[in-house]
Parts: sequence; structure tokens; C-alpha cells
Amino acid sequence: MPEHVVIIGSGPAGWSAAIYAARANLHPLVFEGAETEDNRLAGTLPLGQLNLTTEVENYPGFPAGLLHGFIRSAVAANRVETYLEPLHEHRHAVTGPELMNLMRQQAENFGTRIVTDDVLSVDLSKPPYTIKTLEGQTHETHTIIIATGARANYLGLPSEERFKNRGVSACAVCDGALPRFRNKPLVVVGGGDSAVEEATYLTKYASMVHMLMRRDVFRASKIMQERARANPKINIQYFREVDEVLGDDKAGVTGIRMRDNQQGGTQDVAASGLFLAIGHTPNTTFLKGQLALNDKGYIKYTTLMRTYTSVPGVYAAGDVADDYYRQAVTSAGTGCMAALDAERFLAAKGL
Ligand code: NAP
Repeated sequence: MPEHVVIIGSGPAGWSAAIYAARANLHPLVFEGAETEDNRLAGTLPLGQLNLTTEVENYPGFPAGLLHGFIRSAVAANRVETYLEPLHEHRHAVTGPELMNLMRQQAENFGTRIVTDDVLSVDLSKPPYTIKTLEGQTHETHTIIIATGARANYLGLPSEERFKNRGVSACAVCDGALPRFRNKPLVVVGGGDSAVEEATYLTKYASMVHMLMRRDVFRASKIMQERARANPKINIQYFREVDEVLGDDKAGVTGIRMRDNQQGGTQDVAASGLFLAIGHTPNTTFLKGQLALNDKGYIKYTTLMRTYTSVPGVYAAGDVADDYYRQAVTSAGTGCMAALDAERFLAAKGL
């Protein structure tokens, strides 16, 4: 028997869709992604980008407070031990990993089935649709909600590729605490909220963080810009681009050759790490040729205020179809919408 609803992806969009679909008795099946080294390097592990962040100050319902007791009572003990320890008592807002584990637990509590595997391909040529996974399983389903999000971009320099995992990273929260970065100067590239967040986080460990921006205009929100400017360990450098990552096989990254894109010329700065925060690419490779994508690879919505894609019964939610808002709360909102759209589609078909 085909599934009623398959949800691909496990960020806020995926879990919100699962909570709604499960409460509508649709018994959703979620592919949360595989826990592989490839996914770790690409930034596409289960629980999405929020799981790679620190505090989430703008998700409604989580003002700063003592959340420890709530999380321990709400999330399964084995997941707290595996994914959230050490669970420090804190007075800041909920963290990304805490929020994602809470959402996952909420979906599971209502009967969502969860598979820790990647979807490699889909066949949307005719219903019921077919899904093939990394572990070699095939599933059929009447509807699909695609919530695979987006992943961090890299600059594309050969020297950057050479030092990936040896000083080059796109996730400060994942890698920032490594011994190689402690009490050393580091470089962060980008001028958006992510760059400020990464730079701020890295000042906990680094002796100094150079923030390189290719313009003299931030994309980050005002509050985040002020945070960067006020931090004595963040050195903001405008009109600077990375020309080359310097290093050797033994030490990994030892410095960055920066290019001044106004005056010309280069300058070397000592650094044991390079952190990229330069935007994202949607995780839609597995969909190529199956449904309409825009020129940046994001899924195209076909109807205003609906999560419809170009294929009937296939819906998109979260960052995989959004290069504009890209917020946890907007992703959760479209996840809810996608589940309601799928439910109505099934009801109309008498399924
Ligand atoms: P973003 O806002 O698109 O900013 C990307 C930054 O990278 C820009 O400064 C851009 O410069 C720069 N950039 C892009 N390509 C580059 C290249 N090849 N070389 C050098 N610099 C390059 O991306 P984001 O910071 O990841 O934020 C994405 C979304 O998530 C936003 O909506 C943001 O509000 C949200 N977010 C929110 C929070 C929070 O509220 N705490 C935290 C993280 C993310 P240009 O401006 O010159 O293009």
C-alpha cells in the first residue's frame, strides 16, 4: 500500500508538517536524512541548519529562561544524552539543537514514523510516486512534502577545497571548539546574520576574528551589526575577498591571502581557520527533471499562498522553496501549510 504522506527533510518545515499530518491521522513517514560523513561535510545532517546554530532568539514562544527541566521532561532521555549533552542551565533563549529535538519529539509523540536515511531519487512521473533511499529501499506514496532545506555555500577556491576539515569550515558551531582554533586568529567571510553569528561564537575560542566583507554594507540585521561592531575581538574589514587559503599538509590552514577589491593588491593575515558564511544552495539535486525549479535551484511554487509545486500532490515547505525569508518560523509556517494542502488533496481524491 502506498504511504499517504511522505515528508523529506527534518528541519522546522519537515517537523511542523509531520505534527500536522500525524494529528490528522495520516501516519506520515519522515526521511530525516542519513548520519554520514558526506552529510556532515556538506552541512546536510538530520535536523537541518538550525541544528548547526547556537541560540535562537527569534522563534516565538521561547523567551530567555530556564529551559533545562522542560527539555529533560519533554525529549526522550537517550536523545538528550546523544544530542543535547551537556545540557547546561542557561538564561538565554532556546538553542537550535534543543528546538529541533523538541520539534522531532513532538512529531514522534503523535505517531510520526522516522527513517534516518537520505532520499536519493524520486519518480514523480505518475502517482503513486516512488522514492528511493541511500540504503536501497523503495517506497510509494500518494503525496510528498519536500522540506530538504538548503546548505552552506563555499567560495569554490582550490585552496579552500584542499583544507576542508583542516581549518576550512562552514559551521562555527560544529567546529569552532576544536583545539586547532583555540587562542588563534580566525577569519570569517560574509556580512549577513550568519557571519555575525559565526564570528561572535568564535570569539569564545579565538584570539581574534577577522570578518571579511566584499562590500562595506552588511546584510545582517541592525541588532546583529551592532553586536559585531561592539565586540572587541571582531575586526571588520570591508572590501576584502579571499584570494587564497594558505597552509601546509602538516598544519592545515595557517593564513589567508586577502584581496582588496577597491585598491587592488593582496595582504596575508595569519589565521588557523577560515569560516564561510556566504549564503546557501537549496538541497534539490535529487529532484532535477522531476518538478519545476527556479534558476537558483529552489522549488517553484505554482499558486499564491499555497505550497503547490508543478506536480499535483507534491508540496514544498521551508528554505527549499524560499530564498527570501529563510527563517525558522516561516519554515515552520509553510510546513503546516504543506500538511494541510496534502490532507485536502487526499480528501478530494477519497484517499
Ligand atoms: P545572507 O543574508 O544572504 O548573507 C550572505 C553574505 O555573504 C552577504 O554579506 C554577502 O555579501 C556575502 N557573500 C555571498 N557570496 C559571497 C562571496 N562569494 N564572497 C564573499 N562574500 C559573499 O546569508 P545568511 O547570513 O546566511 O542569512 C540567511 C538568512 O538566515 C537571512 O534571512 C538571515 O536573516 C537568516 N539568519 C538569521 C539569524 C538570526 O536572526 N540570528 C542567524 C543566521 C541567519 P553581499 O551582501 O555583498 O552579497
